Amino acid sequence: MSDAPALEVLQTWDALQTALGDAGAAASLLSEVHPDAQVREAADKHSQDLDAFATDLSLDTEIYAVVAGVDPDGLDADATRMLDKVLRDFRRSGVDRDEATRERLRELNRLELETSQEFARNIREGTKTVRLRPEQLDGLPGDWREQHPAGADGLVEVTTDYPDSIPVRTFAHDRDARVAVSSASLTVAWPDNDAVLRRLLELRAEHARLLGYPTWVDLDTEVKMIETAEAEAEFIARITDLAGPSAERDKQRLLERARQDRPDLADVDTADATYYSELVRREQLDVDAQEVRRYFAFEDVRRGLLDVTGRLFGLTWTPVEATTWHEDVTAYDVELAGERIGRIYLDLHPRDGKFKHAAQFTLVSGLFERALPEGVLVCNFSRGLMEHSEVVTLFHEFGHLIHHVTAGRQQWQRFSGVATEWDFVEAPSQMLEEWAWDADVLASFARDADGNPIPADLVRRMRAAHEFGKGFQARTQMFYAAVSYDLHHALPDDLTERIGELQRQYSVFAALPDTHMHCSFGHLSGYASAYYTYMWSLVIAKDLFSAFDPGDLFASEVAERYRDRILAPGGSRDAADLVEDFLGRPYTFDAYAAWLSREPGTD
Ligand SMILES: [Zn+2]
Repeated sequence: MSDAPALEVLQTWDALQTALGDAGAAASLLSEVHPDAQVREAADKHSQDLDAFATDLSLDTEIYAVVAGVDPDGLDADATRMLDKVLRDFRRSGVDRDEATRERLRELNRLELETSQEFARNIREGTKTVRLRPEQLDGLPGDWREQHPAGADGLVEVTTDYPDSIPVRTFAHDRDARVAVSSASLTVAWPDNDAVLRRLLELRAEHARLLGYPTWVDLDTEVKMIETAEAEAEFIARITDLAGPSAERDKQRLLERARQDRPDLADVDTADATYYSELVRREQLDVDAQEVRRYFAFEDVRRGLLDVTGRLFGLTWTPVEATTWHEDVTAYDVELAGERIGRIYLDLHPRDGKFKHAAQFTLVSGLFERALPEGVLVCNFSRGLMEHSEVVTLFHEFGHLIHHVTAGRQQWQRFSGVATEWDFVEAPSQMLEEWAWDADVLASFARDADGNPIPADLVRRMRAAHEFGKGFQARTQMFYAAVSYDLHHALPDDLTERIGELQRQYSVFAALPDTHMHCSFGHLSGYASAYYTYMWSLVIAKDLFSAFDPGDLFASEVAERYRDRILAPGGSRDAADLVEDFLGRPYTFDAYAAWLSREPGTD
């Protein structure tokens, strides 16, 4: 036992993490959004320095000895949880191992990062090119064809980069063209990445063993809501089963449509799946994207988002003048029951040098009576009309922002904001997407230029088109999840052969011959064995949503209970306990299963 009182040690550690966290948050935000390239570069450099310092701290044996030596007697429940988490973080870094092992772990961290980067670089630089006759591109949009004229030899070059390959796989009537581009896409970085991936998997396996875990999956799942490798395997098997009937039903529809073109076709493969999905949506489900987007003017959507979420969660958004990094940014103070609880910033339009995707960034972590939380939404929407998919994205990202702000009254920075298990983090945002698919909610703000609200029938058709194929998409997702799990669980002798087995077992679409998808499956570097997380949080999101009244998504009693029991606690309790507290029962798969089996377009 060390002499220092436990509470004081923990508070000192948390204060250090708060300082590091807020400095890191500001640096990472500015590196992505500041208009001045020099500021972005400097912020990047600060980010890296802070990362390196945090790693050093996690491997500091003297600090670890102080924390591990405290007497936990007399700590309250929150502080006891805090001590457990801090010790677990230390143990997972390997600080309690002998010096040789610590050295090797440091080395492994470096090698894993380098090898991941090499894997990603080979994909980035491994773009392939296919040459096609112009008539093979019949079916593609006119502007795409104009941008892809034939060369001197009369052939059109198509690369495996998404802006080229996805339109061909989606729209080209010529099957040979689709097969050529699909096959090229599924052999990017082959054979180079076969050996790189094997090396990465070996490094991760050694890393897990050195820390005392049988496999990388065991190491990874320990800190997740799913908890164990066995549970991850069961989850993948269970979703695969649940999705079966819906996958077969919608696949049958693809096969019937494909047989109009090729009457003796026996099965649908990877080169036909995307093309016929699009065709069925267009011919049978009848949604015109042009008709949809005229209801979504940006200013209406932003106002609607604030109205809907404010009404739902009892929050008030008050515009404030604040000095920010760009004139496009709008700032709002957030009030709950008359009390200011935080501030949000919306940076929603593209500009040069800015982050290219959509995400929520933390600016300040909230701490009870010490700091109000601040969060930033960084997106890239046009200033005019929006696609409906962008509206869904906006609701999704805003869900993270609400989570960050409403969970900003914690005693410990470790638990503040979106500090929950990594496989639960997406659930609140995936749930809030439901509001962007509801006819009444949309009609409250989505209006065309003449002021007519979006018709309920159009929303119904949009949903039907969106949900078509949800079963076979789930099976494809489980194929990817199985690849991510399996390769980290037991490294096979032949990666290509094993991937082929997994595709036959999980996907409902046949593989193309002589392809090697693992070499270009970039998520293996970032997600490692945790690709299941997206589907896991979707299952939880559907379960949470089942507590709401689908006939009245504005009902505020349940929404406020959700705010207080799921969002506000942040990471101060396990996600499974929060869900049980809100639903009054442990989480189940029932709501997800019901959604999956429902025919698209029927509510
Ligand atoms: Zn998200």
